[in-house]
Amino acid sequence: MRLRCAKPGRGLYVLAWLYACGAVSVLVTVSCSISDAAPQDGASIEVHPARSVRVLLARDTERLVVSTSGRLRVRDQNGQELSDPLPPLRRAPILFGHSSPTSMVVGPHRITAEVIELIPAAGERIELLMPAGGDKEVMRRYPGFLRCLLKDDGTADIINVVDVEAYLRGVLRGEVPPNWHRETYRAQAIAARTYVLYEKGTVGRNRDWDVTSTARSQMYVGIDVETEKTKAARAVDATRGIVLTWQYPEGDHIFCTYYSAVCGGTTQDASFVGNAGSIPPLAGGVECDYCWRAPKGTYRWKPVTFPKKAVGRALARRYDDFASLGSVAEVEVTDRAPDHRARTIRVTGHKGKSAELPAEAFRLTIDPTGWTVKSTHFRIRDDGKAVTFTHGRGWGHGAGLCQWGAEGMARNGATAEQILGHYYPGARLAKVYE
Ligand SMILES: [Zn+2]
Repeated sequence: MRLRCAKPGRGLYVLAWLYACGAVSVLVTVSCSISDAAPQDGASIEVHPARSVRVLLARDTERLVVSTSGRLRVRDQNGQELSDPLPPLRRAPILFGHSSPTSMVVGPHRITAEVIELIPAAGERIELLMPAGGDKEVMRRYPGFLRCLLKDDGTADIINVVDVEAYLRGVLRGEVPPNWHRETYRAQAIAARTYVLYEKGTVGRNRDWDVTSTARSQMYVGIDVETEKTKAARAVDATRGIVLTWQYPEGDHIFCTYYSAVCGGTTQDASFVGNAGSIPPLAGGVECDYCWRAPKGTYRWKPVTFPKKAVGRALARRYDDFASLGSVAEVEVTDRAPDHRARTIRVTGHKGKSAELPAEAFRLTIDPTGWTVKSTHFRIRDDGKAVTFTHGRGWGHGAGLCQWGAEGMARNGATAEQILGHYYPGARLAKVYE
């Protein structure tokens, strides 16, 4: 299925949260064709407030390790300079200490403020030492600037304030393998752009950041100057400003464009994953004949066993309802989607009392990594003191676009529009800025 595309002059109204981050309807009269324009330079540190994204890089951290190639301006959130510019740093520690008022220390400099912004010179970027799985750490290069929110307990939250288009390059680097098809990259760029703008306009309005830099939102690994002309950069530039919208009664709005690694054959209704509401593009049930090429153990996964004690402990730690059940006697699926994906789980304690929760929440409570119970497409077998999840299909929540399915479609000749039209049925494309 092909997406319907808003044509110039048709008067498509898009609620564009990116403008002033408010409920402002913006008349969009530009074409949304995907172009092959040369990649634009994403190096500018001038971040337009309306198109900025706030990415949480680190939470409650006591220190940062920073490299810069040039001098670093230091200011508060009102643009007031807090000190002379810092000299170029080479893997220099920045420490947030217990003090009142809050302060941070860089070499001989102590800077006191609750919000400290570190701004690189034009054309320069900041590098931070970041976790890279296991015990590994790597220096990652971030466009835009850093905002440090200092707290009384001596820690800080670190936020990268970045232009949305530059941010998307770092998302594609984190989400899409380098050897994947150009059309997959483009489809992913549009889905990721829509997702981050939706988060900015909804949950982001009530907190200091819009998205995390992890798979909890979408993987963001910064940018690589040497590879700016790569597929990631080209896909972002070719789709610049293009988002997915749904025609709500009050007009066309962007929606929460969920996506996951491997749907396992059918997509999931997003209302069982988050609070984005139920609209046709997210209703699930989309047949996917394309993700069977996904890595072994993801399209279909082997049975995994959890002791009932471990299930009970994990649930009790997180939910009061489950803490009062006592030891777990039974774990069962009480509601399934038409494709048999589990939707609701009931846990019964040894005294006969029971409680229910959505299957996705259940899965990520007993296995927060999502690497063992890879999806909610399973059956549950009672093994006495343990439960075994059998007939496992897919990897991730399965709502919206299936990434391995998108790649399968692209290799079969589908365009980005066709891929998005398949996984978000009824959605349309709109260009919300040039
Ligand atoms: Zn799939």
